[in-house]
Amino acid sequence: MALEIIHYPHPTLRHVSRPLTRVDAELRRMVAEMFELMYEHEGVGLAANQVDLPYRLFVANPSGSPDDTEAEQVFINPVLSGGKGRVEGDEGCLSIPGVHGSVARHQKVKVEAYSLSGEQIAGEVEGFLARILQHETDHLDGTLFIDRLTPTQVAEIRDELEEFEIDFDSRRKVGELPTDEAIAARLAELEKLRT
Ligand code: ZN
Repeated sequence: MALEIIHYPHPTLRHVSRPLTRVDAELRRMVAEMFELMYEHEGVGLAANQVDLPYRLFVANPSGSPDDTEAEQVFINPVLSGGKGRVEGDEGCLSIPGVHGSVARHQKVKVEAYSLSGEQIAGEVEGFLARILQHETDHLDGTLFIDRLTPTQVAEIRDELEEFEIDFDSRRKVGELPTDEAIAARLAELEKLRT
């Protein structure tokens, strides 16, 4: 099964992921594929929901460079707390390509998570990495950055979002995309394996 990035308004993007309890070789392979997809689409973070998987994990590399493997990080079951400061910054999303908006995020945030090898990650991050962590953790709760825009900002991108909605409906009509029920059943199956 080759992973693919799904686009708004695919229902898996609204899935709230349960914590992972099992990391196996298949999951490691999927994580490697997520990094590949993230680089291919010039992103700096990619959450499991974005590749149609119900797992509470995301990958990130703030440099966005596949050569900079030192900066690659996998966050499993991330929990953010103690957010400090507010800073506005432009955001986009590989699941809504081409759409951008300014989003207010915490400048600093504490993160607790597990790495792919099961080591505990705990620390305070700030700046761009803090923004990535907040954007990606939102994904795991079924939240998209467009949900954090003001009504005025949403009005500005309404036409672009509508294009995605029309495309989704037409792909579904020709049978390229499963029904909501089939998507939910598949996610439940995959969840049973590892959560
Ligand atoms: Zn995103």
